[in-house]
Parts: sequence; structure tokens; C-alpha cells
Amino acid sequence: MLSNSLIELDRAHLIHPVTSYRGHEATGVKVLRSAEGATVTDASGHQLVDGFAGLWCVNAGYGHESIVAAASRQMRELPYATGYFSLGSEPAIRLAAELAQRAPGDLDHVYFTLGGSDAVDSSVRFIRYYWHARGEPQRDQFISIEQGYHGSSTVGAGLTALSTFHAGFGVPLSWQHKIPSHYVYRNPAGHDGNAIIAASLAALDAKIAEIGGPQRVAAFYAEPIQGSGGVLVPPKGWMKAMRARCQAYGILFVADEVITGFGRTGPLFACSEDEIVPDIMTVAKGLTSGYVPMGAVFLSDHVYGTIADAAGSSAVGQGYTYSAHPVSAAVALEVLRLYEIGLLANGVKAGARLMAGLQSLKDHPLVGDVRGRGMLAAIELVTDKKQKTPLPIAAEPARRIFDRAWKNGLIIRAFPTGVLGYAPPLCCSDSDIEAIIERTAKTLDETLADADVR
Ligand code: PMP
Repeated sequence: MLSNSLIELDRAHLIHPVTSYRGHEATGVKVLRSAEGATVTDASGHQLVDGFAGLWCVNAGYGHESIVAAASRQMRELPYATGYFSLGSEPAIRLAAELAQRAPGDLDHVYFTLGGSDAVDSSVRFIRYYWHARGEPQRDQFISIEQGYHGSSTVGAGLTALSTFHAGFGVPLSWQHKIPSHYVYRNPAGHDGNAIIAASLAALDAKIAEIGGPQRVAAFYAEPIQGSGGVLVPPKGWMKAMRARCQAYGILFVADEVITGFGRTGPLFACSEDEIVPDIMTVAKGLTSGYVPMGAVFLSDHVYGTIADAAGSSAVGQGYTYSAHPVSAAVALEVLRLYEIGLLANGVKAGARLMAGLQSLKDHPLVGDVRGRGMLAAIELVTDKKQKTPLPIAAEPARRIFDRAWKNGLIIRAFPTGVLGYAPPLCCSDSDIEAIIERTAKTLDETLADADVR
């Protein structure tokens, strides 16, 4: 049993990320104690299927002894090496090479960070440096997408387009602009893929013109699937069309694959499936499967080369104490091996079952939309399917849906918009997926019976 003192200590001292501090003080912490495969156990012994892989990151699933062994071996041998002063470690070098080999096109140069936010932050710094090097410092405006998420550093939160990350924080910054999302279910252009792509292209053109023309725009940021905005899957061809339009304008295209990378949508990188090669790609989460922190920025040949040439014999002033951490790199190498010897293939199979299972809930009175790709999915809850009336919920009732699912032995993401998000580990068995679907159905029935939706 969990001692009360742990709850009290948490309440008194631990600040939780993206949480209502006062709400949390009232409800108290749910302590997780152990995990194996796709199942986590809380401190009271309650077992749950983790339908969200932690925070869409434990792609490999829990309890891999070989990952633990890789980390401990590296800790014993060399727990730390800086990348400053031209120093390095074998796992970091090998990891960069393995990733470059698998990344789309000429994304051959890898800069390691501690997670996704600082990967995005670093990418912005590289882009600014790049345009200075190109003699176009006036290209200092950045465009991203409504409902997008690019981290919670000051710069990343400004590229993010979710109000929780803006209100009270002094972002977005003046050089950060947004265009509407493709959000197929609620797109004013209708459901037709080509119409949505045309609308997004027109919105990009208009935004660029409003900013003062392409010669003012440094980069465009897109997630292959918008994650934190509610798992918004663009129509087929959307990424390709946006990438081509940016190329025509000479604007750098950044694919933020922090969620979609490492098998989440099927292949190692969603960009491969979208048949695009971005100029820059950011990753994190599945890179180490959450066992230790790590992220990365991939730079294409021309971006890297331009920066390197411009700096000449001077240092490029971008770095962290823990850039290319050898323990994280050793973990990532082992995680990559596990993906390739079976987890990616299992994820594709399990993803198809997940999608079919969620589709089978389509007739439930609360389910307005089911969407996803691979092991990344969502259902959007509505009170009136014809009118697509959003569930009359805000943060607190979303929490009640989360708690109901929890009680039913399932961890999902309950967004305040009434969207339930799914990103289970790629190791899920058929029975794990069945449990996710059954427990979701039960949670929906209980939600329907609750005053939340009336
Ligand atoms: N970009 C995207 C697309 C993300 O989903 C996230 C995290 N959910 C980030 C960046 C930030 O990553 P982190 O939380 O590791 O800083």
C-alpha cells in the first residue's frame, strides 16, 4: 500500500508538468510502481494497460532487460562524455551513424538533445544561424499550425498553438505565426482531402504574403500527425504538398517527429511514409523509448554544410552539458535493435487491430470520429453526431473520463476537447489491444450515464 506520507510529500514539494497545481493538491498523486510489457501497476497493486505508452514515448514497452543491460554496461564503462572540445563516445557516434543511415534522404547530420523541447529549440537556433550564413538575416519569421505542439520551452511554446501553453507565459513571440490546421473532422473546407490540401496551401500563401513575402520567412514547422492537438491526421498527400510549396518559396521545412518517430505510425519515421525529405527533422520520445531522456535534430547536407562553412574555425554556439549523452545513446542503440528485430512489425499488426477495434465503437452514441495511423489513434466524443457538438467538458470532466478509464484498468489521454488519445507500446499483444477496446467501451458507457454529457 502507498503510505500517506508519499502523497503528502508529493503535494508539498513536487511540481507536476502541465497540471492544475491546486487541482492536483486536492486529488493527490497516483503513484506508479512497476511495469512490464504494456501493463503498469500502481502503488496499490491495481494493474492497467498503458494505452498511452507513458507520454507517447515507451514505444518498446516496459521491462526490456537488454535495455537495462545496455545502460548499466555503459554506466560502468563511461557514464559521461562531453561532446565539447571535439570529444565523443562510441555509442553516440554509432547512434548518429545508424540514425543517419535510416533517416529520409540526406538528413545525415545528427545533433543530440535531452528531449523534444530542446530539439525544437535547437532547430530554431540552427535555422536562424543558417539564414545569417546565407546572407538573409531578414528571414526571421516562423510559421506553424493551429493545434500544433512543439514543446514548452519559450521558443517551442510559441510555435505550439495550444492556449494552455500561451496564457500568462508571454508567447507566442512576435515572429511566430500560425495557419489553420488540416483538422479533417472539423475542417470548414469539408472532408475531401484535395480540398483540405488546397485550403492549407492557400492559408500558407496568404500567411507568407501577410508577413511580407517569402524573403521574410525562415521556416515552416509541421507534425506528420498533430499529436497533442488531438491526434489530427492530415489527408494523404498533405505533407508532400506543403513540403513542395515551402521548397518553391525557398522556406525551410521542419518535420517535428517527436511523437510520430520510431514506429509510432508504422515505419521508423512517418516522413518516409509521407514520401518527403524535410530540411530538418526533430525526434525524441521513442528514440530511447522513454527509458532515459534523449532527443535529436537531423540536419540535411545543405543546412549542415551552410552552417559549418559560415562558422569556419569558430565554434557554433549551440550545446548542452548532456548533448550526446553516452548512456542515452547506448540505450537508443539497443532500442533501435529491438524495433528492427520485431517491434516495428508487431506495432503494424497491433495498430491495425487497434484501429479496427476503435472503429467498432463508431456506433456508440458519444463517438463522433475515429482517426489514427499505426499505433497512434483517437476518438472524438460529441453529444450530437450530426451537429458534431463537442462534449460540454472542460479540464475537470476530462479528468473524470481519465479517472473512469483508470478505474477500468486503462490509461488513455483525455484531452480537454473531448478527444481520447491512444498511443500504446508497439509490443502490445492481441489481448492487450482487446483490453484497450473493452475498457474504452465501458468507460464510454459510464461517461454517457454521467451528468458530464447532459
Ligand atoms: N514536439 C512534439 C511534436 C511533441 O509532441 C513534443 C512532446 N509531446 C515535443 C515537441 C516536446 O518534447 P518534450 O516533452 O520531450 O520536451
